[in-house]
Amino acid sequence: MNATLRELLATESSVLLHGYTSAQGDAETRKTVADNIRERFGVNISPDLIYMTCGAAASLSISLKAIIEEGKRDEFIVFAPFFTEYRVFIENAGGKVVISEPEEKTFQINLSDLEAKINEKTKAIILNSPNNPSGVVYTEETIKGVADILDRKSKEYGAPIYLIADEPYRELVYGDVFVPYLMNYYRDTVVCYSFSKSLSLPGERIGYIAVSPNMQDARGVYLSVCGAGRSLGYVCAPSLMQQLVKKCINAKVNIKAYKKNRDLLYGSLTSYGYECVKPDGAFYLFVKSPSGDAYEFYERAKAHEILVVPCDDFGVKGYVRIAYCTDYERVVGALPAFSALAKEYGL
Ligand code: PLP
Repeated sequence: MNATLRELLATESSVLLHGYTSAQGDAETRKTVADNIRERFGVNISPDLIYMTCGAAASLSISLKAIIEEGKRDEFIVFAPFFTEYRVFIENAGGKVVISEPEEKTFQINLSDLEAKINEKTKAIILNSPNNPSGVVYTEETIKGVADILDRKSKEYGAPIYLIADEPYRELVYGDVFVPYLMNYYRDTVVCYSFSKSLSLPGERIGYIAVSPNMQDARGVYLSVCGAGRSLGYVCAPSLMQQLVKKCINAKVNIKAYKKNRDLLYGSLTSYGYECVKPDGAFYLFVKSPSGDAYEFYERAKAHEILVVPCDDFGVKGYVRIAYCTDYERVVGALPAFSALAKEYGL
């Protein structure tokens, strides 16, 4: 990728690299993204349904603002455990956060809980798979169940309930785990994508929104996305990065390095007696506090120079998140401390 960047800087005009693109993004970049979605997932999407953004955070903020009906206090369902920023994005757009509880132990979506949480105010659900913080990938069966509920409830209330697919970790999966492409399962889907994790360049701020062509009012929703992007000031995503996306759309992350860390950390922690969900994707391990108290675990881990994130605010109490997007040597080096801490707890 560095070579591609050097080549770009040497050969392209400075206006193309550093000037404004059109508000929704460079036309050729949007075509590259649309072609990529068609080739990989079989969805026949036009570049005119793609909006380039400064990463998934912008994709989500824009999408929420695009679909919310102002002043109505629309509800948005998130699935625990969830990325805490959803609360900020939803409330900033004027919406209300509704939390759906997960299935115990597997952390898959609890379909009956989802159905019970939907009402006439539900505007959308946000689905994040592979999941931050659990690393869980929702199964195809789960996704079909979600789509079925949304279909029925949209009909019952006479308005679409949107499915916002937050997908920064799509490419980070281990083994042959299948990550369903949500546009293929549910009509009213908006995909919020980011290259932050798939190209491992979160500081460069580049991603996109893709509005499903199967949506009844795809063009109307896309125009709302453009309007929301404009009013939030999220226009003309970084030009240099848009040019890079054109060249690197099929670049693959070194998944082996993450898998090596995952295998070592998960295998070791469970052998010490910790209870954790085996992550099929992303680069997080979701670990249950041996005392049941996430903050107490965080403090005791800190005394061993281990930094974990207490996850009560992610919607599930008593768990912490460990990020293993780091050097293998650092994971190896942390194991004696995890082992000592396990002994302290009498595991
Ligand atoms: N969504 C989830 C689930 C995330 O974990 C993150 C970042 O960690 C984001 C969105 C934001 O991604 P970006 O850095 O592309 O804005």
